Order: sequence, then C-alpha cells, then structure tokens
Amino acid sequence: MSDTCIFCRIVAGTIPATIVASSDTAMAFRDLSPQAPVHVLVIPRRHTASLADAVDAAELGAVLALAAEVARIEGVAESGYRVVTNAGPEGGQTVSHLHLHVLGGRQMHWPPG
Ligand code: AMP
Repeated sequence: MSDTCIFCRIVAGTIPATIVASSDTAMAFRDLSPQAPVHVLVIPRRHTASLADAVDAAELGAVLALAAEVARIEGVAESGYRVVTNAGPEGGQTVSHLHLHVLGGRQMHWPPG
C-alpha cells in the first residue's frame, strides 16, 4: 500500500469509489470520467505500478478474471467490450497503480487514439 497512491486509498476505503465487484486479490470500481456507457477500472489490491512491474501471474489472472466478471455484471459480456491497460507515459498511463479499463456499451473503434 502506498499512502500517496489514489487507487491504494480506494482499496483502503479512505477515498470513495463506486465498487462494482471485488475479490480477495482485486477490486473493480467505476471510472470517475467514463469514456463509454460502461467504464470500470479493475485493479490488484496490492500496489503494482504498471503492467511493466507485474511479476505475479496468479494475481494478473485474478485481475483479468474479475474484468470478465465485471463485463457479465454490467451486461456487456454478450454484446462485446474492450479491456485496456495503459503502461507508462507513451502508453497514456496517468495513475501509477496497475489497472484494466473495461469499456463497453457502445461500438469500439480501432486503432485507438
Ligand atoms: P490511465 O490514464 O490509464 O492511467 O487511467 C486512469 C483512470 O483513472 C482515468 O480514466 C481516470 O478517469 C480514472 N480515475 C482517476 N481518479 C479516479 C478516482 N478517484 N476514481 C475513479 N477513477 C479515477
């Protein structure tokens, strides 16, 4: 846990978030600035700065599994959805705690910006 990390503070419950799902290993909550009708962030509870720093395959699997569960909960598992992680400055990462964006509820386009 990092006291300065906003997502660690959400895990600790010291700043509010709208929780969609959680497990022993991971948490899912709504993005503050949604880019699609469904926009949920899925994070490991344990602080990891980005995918570049991830070393625990079981933890990554749990995060990915929770992303799939979020898609079911949000009703987009059948229609389709996108899971994205931004890593590092050129990847567009702005919060240094590994997170998957689960986006759905509208047509996604490729390539992303
Ligand atoms: P990224 O740019 O990939 O690092 O994504 C960070 C995401 O975190 C952005 O989509 C922000 O809107 C979102 N975000 C930042 N602070 C919060 C917060 N307190 N609660 C929920 N989402 C947040």
